[in-house]
Amino acid sequence: MTIQAKITKWIRPQIRAKSAYHVPDPGECIKLDAMENPYQWPESLVQDWLDVLRGVSLNRYPDPDANALKRRLRTAEKVPDGLDILLGNGSDELIQMIALSVADKGRTVLAPAPTFVMYQLIAELVNMNYVGVPLRPEGFDLDLPAMLEAMKTHSPAVVFLAYPNNPTGNLFSENDVRKIIEAADGLVVVDEAYATFNDKTFLDEPGNYDNLLILRTVSKAGLAGLRLGYLVGLPDWLKEINKTRLPYNINVLTQVSVDFAMDHRQLLEEQARQIRRDRATLFGELNKLSGIHPYSSDANFILFQVPGGCAEGLFEELRKRGVLVKNMDSAGGLLRDCLRVTVGTPEENSTFLAALQASF
Ligand SMILES: *Cc1c(COP(=O)(O)O)cnc(C)c1O
Repeated sequence: MTIQAKITKWIRPQIRAKSAYHVPDPGECIKLDAMENPYQWPESLVQDWLDVLRGVSLNRYPDPDANALKRRLRTAEKVPDGLDILLGNGSDELIQMIALSVADKGRTVLAPAPTFVMYQLIAELVNMNYVGVPLRPEGFDLDLPAMLEAMKTHSPAVVFLAYPNNPTGNLFSENDVRKIIEAADGLVVVDEAYATFNDKTFLDEPGNYDNLLILRTVSKAGLAGLRLGYLVGLPDWLKEINKTRLPYNINVLTQVSVDFAMDHRQLLEEQARQIRRDRATLFGELNKLSGIHPYSSDANFILFQVPGGCAEGLFEELRKRGVLVKNMDSAGGLLRDCLRVTVGTPEENSTFLAALQASF
């Protein structure tokens, strides 16, 4: 038997049909493609952090439950009493843990479309059906009747709602989200990856609905390299989902580093305020360019539409001029002719705008 024949025999067709999640090499480009915080820590803070790392025992396994870090997050993020926290190696891992907990033949994961691609990717990896319900073309809000209809048809085990949504950047109507939670037979996960960049949250709500979980991450707030996500919900749910977690999933460097970062939250919060101000400036500047239509955003990125058929060309021109954004055009549907740019430093944003103008 050739290796190809063996692969065809043993690797599941769903896996063979996929390509691995692709992250482009930024080379020397300004990286405005992945919603990273553009700011580094001041040197004195780096020194203090290195002092903390020096005290870590690398020969020992980390605290399997990361209890100190959980206590820290609970206070820092004001997690309501009566709710528990489950930690993941990025919120991506928590999405996977949720999916593994409910996966069974014929079960469905449902979300609006377009949305964060990992919901579909992970659902399909664990052999679940995935249903995407198109958002309204105007303003990208939920199409509530269509969502409720699809939920009735498919009775999803989980509904994922990114709040605000990636890649469109908007917050869905709060009332529509509540209607979906109330109508859902299964779990509803409100994914607040961009919580730092707006003032809306469902974090206080899992006590009011027995099927609601809130997903958060420290990635977009400035700690993407540490890989830490957290899921907040009623202890009964988290106790079950925790069984799908690999032991020691949060490494010791992440545990102490996030704890250290929480000592210096004001810095991250000030950076988030700066990014919000710069988002408004960037939006205004994009809006002035003829042929460019930016969509208003409650996150740290802006989706914008370019003249029909120009997305790929503009993406490549920007890259040649040293700016990496994300080309959403190939996803089709509502994202046809759209690019997505992360809000960078004021200098990076100016470079991006100049490169965009020069690319026409
Ligand atoms: C970026 C993003 C995530 C992934 O965050 P990690 O914690 O870095 O894995 C989750 N959900 C949404 C909506 C995102 O945009």
